[in-house]
Amino acid sequence: MSRMETIAIIGGGAAGLAAAIAAARAVAPLGGATDTEVVVFESDERVGRSILATGNGRCNFSNAQVDAGEYRNAPFVAKTLDALAAHADPGASASRAASVASEVASTAGEASRSAANPAAGSPRASDPVHAFFADLGLMWREEGEGRLYPLANKASSVLDVLRGALAREGVRVECGRRATRIDAPERPGGRYHVRFEGGSVAHARAVIVATGGRTPRGLVPDALPFLPQRPVLGPLRTDTALVKPLNNIRVRCVATLAVPDGAPRAAEAGEILFRDYGVSGIAAFNLSRLARPGDVLLLDLVPQLDRRACERELRARRARLGAPVGEELLAGMLLPQVARAVFGQAGLRPEAPFADGDAPALAGALKGLALAVRGVGDARQCQATRGGLDVAAFDARTMEARRLPGLFAVGEALDVDAPCGGYNLHWAWASGIAAGRAAASALAKRAGREDSRA
Ligand SMILES: Cc1cc2nc3c(=O)[nH]c(=O)nc-3n(C[C@H](O)[C@H](O)[C@H](O)COP(=O)(O)OP(=O)(O)OC[C@H]3O[C@@H](n4cnc5c(N)ncnc54)[C@H](O)[C@@H]3O)c2cc1C
Repeated sequence: MSRMETIAIIGGGAAGLAAAIAAARAVAPLGGATDTEVVVFESDERVGRSILATGNGRCNFSNAQVDAGEYRNAPFVAKTLDALAAHADPGASASRAASVASEVASTAGEASRSAANPAAGSPRASDPVHAFFADLGLMWREEGEGRLYPLANKASSVLDVLRGALAREGVRVECGRRATRIDAPERPGGRYHVRFEGGSVAHARAVIVATGGRTPRGLVPDALPFLPQRPVLGPLRTDTALVKPLNNIRVRCVATLAVPDGAPRAAEAGEILFRDYGVSGIAAFNLSRLARPGDVLLLDLVPQLDRRACERELRARRARLGAPVGEELLAGMLLPQVARAVFGQAGLRPEAPFADGDAPALAGALKGLALAVRGVGDARQCQATRGGLDVAAFDARTMEARRLPGLFAVGEALDVDAPCGGYNLHWAWASGIAAGRAAASALAKRAGREDSRA
């Protein structure tokens, strides 16, 4: 009679579904005296709801050129991505890998770009996450800055291929099951006990924690170090006097986050959307990962001119326009509401005649419209969570806890986050695939040992 072992995946979001598919594929060919079932326990009434909300419903599921250096805990992430690349999907044949290469090239929206830069094509084609999705049947296109979106332009298209694979690979999905506590085995090599709301318990030789950024500390065994969590990748709250009149206005600029004494912490070129509480937009989201209350956000509204060139331009405009008032001077350069904010910060009146001597102050405000940062917007507005399970306690190649063999953690449950651009989902898939394969392989090794003893 065969023994039944379970790989339990707690959480059916991006990382959990990738882990389930990877685990089921890796256990399928094992055979022997051990059967292994892969079960996803999801608290919601359906899996993958978090995926549907991504990328404004379009799911920016990955990036054409993922750079591990962009992630928090970059060395850990680099190890995971390298290990994944070194151990391609055992089921993927050379011909399949080749078809992935051609598919990526043919589905990239900016095909001309990759043709113009052949070197950019090959790393994409060999990316294990992209190969995983190509194998599931997903086609995609590339947009600006390497962002990858499903060809159907709908997040549901990504979820469709994942759900199809779950069914084909025989993964059992149990929805409406909220795990409340994972207890470690009483003896080494024993089974984990996963306790659920309502009192039921599941026993599993391997457990993959895929509960996302809001994983509560109490869910995982006490032995695992757990860092305080805080939302990131969201809008910045700032002092409101300047931004309130600008609510809903967008500017393209270079935004620099500086510590209170003025030293720059980070800079982002891109769009800033003024809101009545602060600033939103991709540049603000990315800077929120580093922002601290008390920091200063400096918006360079004319990044194409350096400070001196900006002063010269202001004087030249004054000469051309024949002694204009301030508002007239900036017409055609900034929207009037933004111009008024700039004049205010420069200590000038927009309705007063502009003097040559005003150029240094105005150029200063144009090159560094300053907002005092109060903090990051509330959790509902943020796309990622910093903190959670400390990566130091995990093996980056397998995602397995060093001191708790059989316990794995993936995705945002770990203290990993990255800027916008498909990086966070890429991490969810990559870490999920790594853990799924490693869990299956650990069970196979164990089964092999037991078979040889019998
Ligand atoms: C609005 C929004 C847009 C985003 N857009 C993008 C984007 O376009 N590109 C990108 O790369 N990233 C994006 N992100 C970030 C990305 O969605 C996350 O980084 C990613 O989903 C993390 O995957 P995960 O599997 O770790 O967690 P999740 O996807 O959050 O999945 C966790 C799952 O676990 C379940 N769960 C939680 N607790 C329990 C429990 N106790 N028991 C059982 N189940 C449980 C949850 O219901 C959920 O299904 C976005 C995030 C948000 C909020």
